[in-house]
Parts: sequence; C-alpha cells; structure tokens
Amino acid sequence: MIDLRALDLAPGGETRLRVRVPPIELRLGGQDYRVEPPEPELEVRLTRSLSGVHLALRTEVDLVGPCWRCLEGARVHLVVEGDEFAAEGRPADAPFDEDLDSAYVESQTLDLAGWARDAIAEAVPATVLCREDCAGLCPTCGANRNEADCGCIVVDTDPRWDPLRELSERLARGD
Ligand SMILES: [Zn+2]
Ligand SMILES: [Zn+2]
Repeated sequence: MIDLRALDLAPGGETRLRVRVPPIELRLGGQDYRVEPPEPELEVRLTRSLSGVHLALRTEVDLVGPCWRCLEGARVHLVVEGDEFAAEGRPADAPFDEDLDSAYVESQTLDLAGWARDAIAEAVPATVLCREDCAGLCPTCGANRNEADCGCIVVDTDPRWDPLRELSERLARGD
C-alpha cells in the first residue's frame, strides 16, 4: 500500500519509485503458477496533473509452472506494463467511474500488490508452453512426445462420417 498524499506531489510533478511486492501466485486454467523473482520489483511512475494522478507500472518477471501441452515445467518471460488514473477530489460515496477512478486507488491509497498481480495476469500469453514447438502428450497413450516417440498412430477422423457417428451416439443414448 502506498499513500499517495504522503508523496506530496505538486501538480506537474513526477516521482518514480522502485517497490518490491510480496510473492504472487496465479491460478491459470486450473494450474498453479508462481512468479519469479519471488518478490518482484516494480517501477512505478506517478505524475500529478491538475485533474488527478497518473500511475504507470512496469516490471519484468518469469511465470513458472506447468506447460499447457505436456505438463512439464515451463518458464515464460513477461514484460508487464500498466496504466491507471485516479481523479482528484472525488466524493467518497461517488459510484465507480472507470474514466475517473482506479480500482487500485482507494482514499488516496494505492494497492500496488493488487495492481501488480492483475497486470501480471494480463501479461500472460494465450498459451503457456515449455517451448514454442512443444509436441505435447500423445492423445492415445499419454506419453510425452518431446521425450520419446511412443509409436502410436494418431488417426484424424474423417469429418464426412461425423453425422453418422452422431446418429449412432444418439441411438446409443436412446434419445
Ligand atoms: Zn511442453
Ligand atoms: Zn502414444
């Protein structure tokens, strides 16, 4: 937590902080991931204008956890950036307005750890892989195809037979 008032920023003023946050763990696709280094150091830039405080965050971390294809350990480097704005002089009981309020600033106090966590989660790519060309697990026998060729022949089904298969499945279910 950072008290923005304590920074005593005059309008037009800018300050830069380097702050460490507590360890961050993320759950993605039902798997647990940790962030390294364990206490990531964030660069935070605060700029005050007449309307409020602009906040920018930047850090680089590694996401460590299972590969989505083969479940072996994966390490993905993330460049994390975030921007927030908190308007000055907002009444305490005003409803949240995304143009004026930051979800991480409450009564002029910045929840840096919460912001960092969300910014890191947003920086995670669409797939977390041990390597770009990870061959994954064999759908037939479950062997890790990066390590050995299990010899299974994986047959792609012919889509022309799909309606017939669906019909036989429906008949089997009795509907
Ligand atoms: Zn993999
Ligand atoms: Zn196999």
